[in-house]
Amino acid sequence: MKLVFATGNPGKLREASEILGEDFELTGSAEAGITEDIPETGETLKDNSKIKAEYVFERSSMNCFADDTGLEVDALGGAPGVHTARFAGEEKDFNRNMDKLLAELERLGKQDPASRSARFKSVITLILDGKEYYFEGTLEGTIAKCKSGHGGFGYDPVFIPAEYPGKTLADITEEEKNAISHRGKALRAMAEFLKENISKK
Ligand code: IMP
Repeated sequence: MKLVFATGNPGKLREASEILGEDFELTGSAEAGITEDIPETGETLKDNSKIKAEYVFERSSMNCFADDTGLEVDALGGAPGVHTARFAGEEKDFNRNMDKLLAELERLGKQDPASRSARFKSVITLILDGKEYYFEGTLEGTIAKCKSGHGGFGYDPVFIPAEYPGKTLADITEEEKNAISHRGKALRAMAEFLKENISKK
């Protein structure tokens, strides 16, 4: 069955293809004729994933899905949340985002791990035969005191997952991360749904 993933990120496409398996022929949004950045104007992760999936569906009429991810830091009242990519500015600079996060927690005097609790949340909107379905995945952890590791992307060097105490997501392998990640969990929930609800198309 053909399915469009509303992303231009080859890493995300590879991860989703591995999780969905060979019954699904997955393509990125470019293959559905969409090369522009899809505006993310929603107020929640679910809104943004919906906006992106609907954008692709309205233009291609193809079965498709989109994801949106945010980092929620408890000491910051759940921020940066839906503003995760642009926490330190429109240029989406990962290093500046992490520096701002570490500085905010320092300013608030949050020193011990318990006061630095956080989670990544991913929401997926799937549009299948014109109907919408939603899936979520969460990864619990804490924010490190400083950056560590060279793997991954985004906030990986400052996020210590509960499953790997003392290691950030940038310290573990891609396979280890995919097995526990927010996006991996949301994708696996969608994969299960798809396998139960459709015959090969
Ligand atoms: P997106 O919705 O997947 O584009 O994610 C929004 C932002 O969240 C990204 O720009 C990253 O800064 C951050 N992010 C998403 N997933 C991850 C992850 O797995 N590790 C670290 N940061 C992430």
